[in-house]
Amino acid sequence: MTNKIIILSMLTILTSACSKDSTSSISSTTPAPTVNNTVPDVFKKVYGASSITSDGTYITIKSNGAPDHKSSYYATSNALYDNFSGVTFGGYNFAKNPNSISEKSYVFKIPADPKMATNHMATPLGAIGVSLNGVPFFNQYAGPNQPLTGEVVSFDRYWGHPAPTGQYHYHVEPLYLTTVKVTKSSLLGFLLDGFPVYGPEENGTLVDNTKLDAYHGHTAVTTDYPAGIYHYHITSNDPYINGSGFYGSPGTVSQ
Ligand SMILES: [Zn+2]
Ligand SMILES: [Zn+2]
Repeated sequence: MTNKIIILSMLTILTSACSKDSTSSISSTTPAPTVNNTVPDVFKKVYGASSITSDGTYITIKSNGAPDHKSSYYATSNALYDNFSGVTFGGYNFAKNPNSISEKSYVFKIPADPKMATNHMATPLGAIGVSLNGVPFFNQYAGPNQPLTGEVVSFDRYWGHPAPTGQYHYHVEPLYLTTVKVTKSSLLGFLLDGFPVYGPEENGTLVDNTKLDAYHGHTAVTTDYPAGIYHYHITSNDPYINGSGFYGSPGTVSQ
């Protein structure tokens, strides 16, 4: 009994020590991913994974894809349910879609050493990459050749929404990451080709779409890659995350 009390007190101390502030109780309850020691440090920034492993060729990231932040698409009984109304992405008034969040079993297999591809594959519908909190990135389409335009009204407070199958995802800037967890200049995740995804700013300066190539990226030095690397930037204008396909050769994703 005494031992139990000691352990409980220690847990309480640890939990409060990990909390950034009293409102981030969600992140403090997210267990740290199991990581094997051959995983490059930059991939360890994906804090919303259940495990991150490397076989030297591929980094395997597993996540349930459910956001660690409030959403209008959680059940009202969930602590993360958000009774949100008001303005969302693009200045539109939020209009909830009929879907709700369900947990998945994502396995992202991402090249550890990304290389430019000779033929740039178009991104598929569904997950095209993984963000720091384990939520997948989707491309700029609502369906085959359907622009996102009609969908953006259903983006919640943090600019994500679920598909009819329950997969929560981001087509645009993941606002919880860029405003609460990290910054608008930070690494936000990876596309399936292994190239990193950054926010709408570079060292605090807004990235102009005209400075990006057809795939929505460019090569430059970043904090995480001091030797320079090709990387994507998420901007506020279509195509948002990725343009005309993957810059490199994509790995795989299953759910
Ligand atoms: Zn969508
Ligand atoms: Zn950049």
